[in-house]
Order: sequence, then structure tokens, then C-alpha cells
Amino acid sequence: MRAMVLDAPKKLLRLRDVAKPRPNAGQLLVRVSACAVCRTDLHIVDGELPEPKLPLIPGHEIVGRVERIGGGVEDFRVGDRVGIPWLGWTCGECEFCVSGRENLCRRARFTGYTIDGGYAEFTVADARFAFRIPDTFDDVRAAPLLCAGLIGYRSLRKAGDPKRLGIYGFGAAAHIVAQVACYEGREVFAFTRPDDNEAQEFARALGVSWAGGSDEAPPEKLDAAIIFAPVGALVPAALRNVKRGGTVVCGGIHMSDIPSFPYRDLWHERTICSVANLTRRDGEEFLAIAARIPIRTETQTFPLEQANEALAALRSGKLRGAAVLIP
Ligand SMILES: [Zn+2]
Ligand SMILES: [Zn+2]
Repeated sequence: MRAMVLDAPKKLLRLRDVAKPRPNAGQLLVRVSACAVCRTDLHIVDGELPEPKLPLIPGHEIVGRVERIGGGVEDFRVGDRVGIPWLGWTCGECEFCVSGRENLCRRARFTGYTIDGGYAEFTVADARFAFRIPDTFDDVRAAPLLCAGLIGYRSLRKAGDPKRLGIYGFGAAAHIVAQVACYEGREVFAFTRPDDNEAQEFARALGVSWAGGSDEAPPEKLDAAIIFAPVGALVPAALRNVKRGGTVVCGGIHMSDIPSFPYRDLWHERTICSVANLTRRDGEEFLAIAARIPIRTETQTFPLEQANEALAALRSGKLRGAAVLIP
């Protein structure tokens, strides 16, 4: 089968013929029909995340159909449509796994990082970590739900119950979480790169109350803010825009260093937290609400062999919504 392979960090991906994977017990062999491109893929390719599997097939927002099934799988049939997310395996027995926090499992394995992912014609996945995708979404529009949507949703829940929510970095995750927040009756304030009028218009078209540059102050103080842009300087900037008692959620897996700031900006019980990975429960909750809204994902498709171009478009901030690779 054909796959886009990373041989070493900071190298371009290469199109290769590699052996088609075989499903072991408990696994599904999935024919990939769409795989969205996530900022995490860019961090992996750039060598910003430690110890990826090498060589590696990236990609963890996978939609496909079950082609073969390993022993012991009861929940899926050949031909079923499945979604495969970032969380690929957990130990099931550590303090985190047994307390509903499998996203923090120290032995967790991650699709497209420590196990091969979906920049390929086929992939294998542990059936226990695969989701069913609601019929509301076609394959391409479903793909970005599997990380941008899921991590966005977990970030929104970490933000508490904000009436006014700021979102920094208006890309794939933000355009989905903004729709969930608006559906829940929250006022959303979108912060983009300064002068990125196109992104600000895109945000307004999705129903946000205000859109402006990350160097601007919103017209009203926020109850919470989520930061998706990997820019540490946005943490103190967001903190200054949240009310007392407010929360700043860092939704990305990697961020540049956070500059120091005066304690008074944190004072009055403001909180900073990060979001790591996802749990299967996040996935089930989010996919149900996504179908109910229903979320409209904005996508730009690229053929599989143009994965490097898709990553470059993401890096430049030129994408509207999410890039999706089609094998
Ligand atoms: Zn565990
Ligand atoms: Zn991701």
C-alpha cells in the first residue's frame, strides 16, 4: 500500500510503498477514506515532540471502513465506518485509567505518533478505541471532528460554564468549538493573528459575537479563554482579558515558552490549565452533540501524496478550516 512516511524529524514526508498492516487480536484493519491534518502532525514532523516512532506514518483524524477484523472483536463488522482518534491504546489498570482519566495514562499510545496512523491507504486500530461516526457527516467532513473537534470539546469543558468565551487561534479546532459554544448559548470572541481579516470574517460567518487580532482587547471581559495557537505569549495576554475567577485553557500539545507576567494578572483566582489528549468518553459525548447541532466543518482536501503541501498550508496559517488528505 502507499503511505506518506516520516523517516526523521525535520524531514519532508516521503511517499512509499509499504507492507499492508495486519490486524492482530482486538484490532481492525481499516481502509482509509479521509485523514485530517492536525497541528500536532506539524509538531511531530518538526521534531517538537519527543521520541516519535520512526519511521512513522503520521495522521490521527482517520475515517475509513473496516476491511478485516482480528480475533475477539464483537462490536464491529466488515464494512462498518469507523473514526480513529489520537488516543490509540491505554493500559486500563493505572491510577489514571481506573479513575476516568485515561488521557493521562503514562503508557498510552498515540495514533500517528507512537503507532502508525492514517496518512496511508490502510491502517490498523485497536477496536476499543475506534468510534462510530454519525450518519450526518460524510467522510471528509467527519475527519476533523476526530481531533480538532474532540480536543476542542475537551478544552471547552475545561473552561467551565463561560457566558463569554474567548478563542485564540481560529483554525480547525476553533471553528468547531465555536459552533458548539454558540449552540450552547455562549458569546464567543475570536482572536486571530493581527490583521488576518479573512480568518476574522470566517469566525463571524460562524456566528461569533466579535472577532479581532490577538493584540486587541475584547469589548467585554471574558469568563474563560481557550488558546489553540502554539504561542506562549498568548497566555498572559489572555489572562489579562479574563475576569476574576476566570480560566485560561491551553488546548495544544506544544507551545513556545510562556513569558513571565505580574502576579496581579493571575490574582483573584484566575486559573491556567492545559488539555492533554482525550478520553473515549469525550469522543462519545462530542460526536453525539456534533450530530445534534449539526457541526459544519470547513475542509480543504489534498491528495495523500500532497501531505507536505497540506502541512505547509497549515504552517502558513492560510487554511480556512481543516486540511483533509484523501488516499
Ligand atoms: Zn493507564
Ligand atoms: Zn490532533
